[in-house]
Amino acid sequence: MGSHCESSVKIPPIKFTKLFINGNFVDSISGKTFDTIDPRTGEVITKVSLGDREDVDLAVKAARHAFDYGPWPRMSGSERGRMMMKLADLIEENVEEIAALDAVNGGKLFTLCKAIDIPGAARTLRYYAGAADKIHGTVLKMSKGLQGYTLREPIGVVGSIIPWNFPTTMFFMKAAPALAAGCTLVVKPAEQTPLSALYYAHLAKLAGIPDGVLNVVNGFGETAGAAISAHMDIDKVTFTGSTEVGRKIMAAAAASNLKPVSLELGGKSPLLIFDDADIDQAADIAFRGMFYNKGEICVASSRVYVQEGIYEKLVKKLVEKAKATVVGDPFDPQVNQGPQTDKKQFEKILSYIEHGKREGATLLTGGKHVGQKGYYIEPTIFTDVNEDMIITKEEIFGPVMSLMKFKTMEEAIKRANNTTYGLASGIITKNLNVANTVSRSIRAGVVWINCYTAFDVDCPYGGYKMSGSGRDFGLDALNQYLQIKSVVTPIHDSPWH
Ligand code: NAD
Repeated sequence: MGSHCESSVKIPPIKFTKLFINGNFVDSISGKTFDTIDPRTGEVITKVSLGDREDVDLAVKAARHAFDYGPWPRMSGSERGRMMMKLADLIEENVEEIAALDAVNGGKLFTLCKAIDIPGAARTLRYYAGAADKIHGTVLKMSKGLQGYTLREPIGVVGSIIPWNFPTTMFFMKAAPALAAGCTLVVKPAEQTPLSALYYAHLAKLAGIPDGVLNVVNGFGETAGAAISAHMDIDKVTFTGSTEVGRKIMAAAAASNLKPVSLELGGKSPLLIFDDADIDQAADIAFRGMFYNKGEICVASSRVYVQEGIYEKLVKKLVEKAKATVVGDPFDPQVNQGPQTDKKQFEKILSYIEHGKREGATLLTGGKHVGQKGYYIEPTIFTDVNEDMIITKEEIFGPVMSLMKFKTMEEAIKRANNTTYGLASGIITKNLNVANTVSRSIRAGVVWINCYTAFDVDCPYGGYKMSGSGRDFGLDALNQYLQIKSVVTPIHDSPWH
């Protein structure tokens, strides 16, 4: 195990801590605030305004007004796209500062935020900005002397409830297609990571996005989040987070105005490594697939199935990689793995590890917390596990891998599908027949062949089974923020005339 480095960088300057409603930073109605925490130390970074039901209501009123009367849904797609492009430019100009916010607030590696998450947000904005003026309906060929066409109109006011593991990616994965479609939004960032979302609200204003179009209400799930999902004047909710909360959001939507809901929920994703794989490459893919972002990633390859011929060699390589991992301050460029996002998550992961040991799994490496303060955990690998064990069934959302051995492709497919989840999966093989057969047999929203976590904004992404419904990214996501209106008229001298 690499060394644990004490915090090297002080907290970056924090400029925005209030709610952003109707184009202004405002205190919450109650005047209350909550602490946002640095997971490197467990200490308070700053206090952030605490939004509740009444603040959500104000934000929805602003978004509603901007949608019903404001210019945003009425301007041309290319004008919306131009402002979104401007926002993308502003994000790139401020990449260091924003990356520091996600690193200090979420324990994410600063270098990766700078190289991947923040530039990825700019790319996402540009992708949907480019689509904003290509939203077309169709011409209808009708009978009975009628003619018609469809319009694809923005769905209205969108409530976006997002998690803490990718504060920036999640913000724009939802906001960019919604904005391109002409919707207005109320975003509730996770209570653990509100800081970059507020920065984006500020940049959106600078980019010229009209007041009321993009509102940000910080707050907790049971209050601000629940108020969004039950709100009668929100037309759609998009959510990423736990399956348990997804269920609550769907129930609240059903009990209020039946708003459509898209859900991107948990996973327990299988990675199948076949005997013909290059062992070094397979170990790299499996290790990164699991331990990227300290395992706090919903697609994590948390169930790794290895064919028996290469099992021993692969296990050895994975253990070597785990032991060579440097766990420590996410601002230190030598560090590979930062702290877990918060105390709750840290304790939950450690309790799963204890559970695994009690269930009789073999702890090959890791299993302990690191350092005297902060929420650091060693990369952990279990073997001698099976699909009935809690650690193999439930989403741990931390750096814990279950390694299993299989004999035949048929067995691997069956075991891979033996889960209530269906978010992601991976296959490592040089055999095209195996890759094709397995990719068609696994019930999951994405299959990565000879790669893993290979995301792109052009690639739709979402879950089968209890991993959710709807898709983020790609043009499929844009459709979720649009609805179809049919316009019908009789042709001259038709029987309707
Ligand atoms: P969560 O689902 O509780 O939180 C996600 C978001 O939902 C946050 O913004 C939260 O405030 C909000 N929320 C919580 N309760 C709500 C409610 N009743 N109504 C409306 N919104 C509500 O996730 P968590 O507690 O932070 O993490 C728990 C587990 O969820 C993790 O261990 C992990 O398994 C899973 N998770 C998955 C993802 C993902 O990307 N799929 C992300 C984060 C967490």
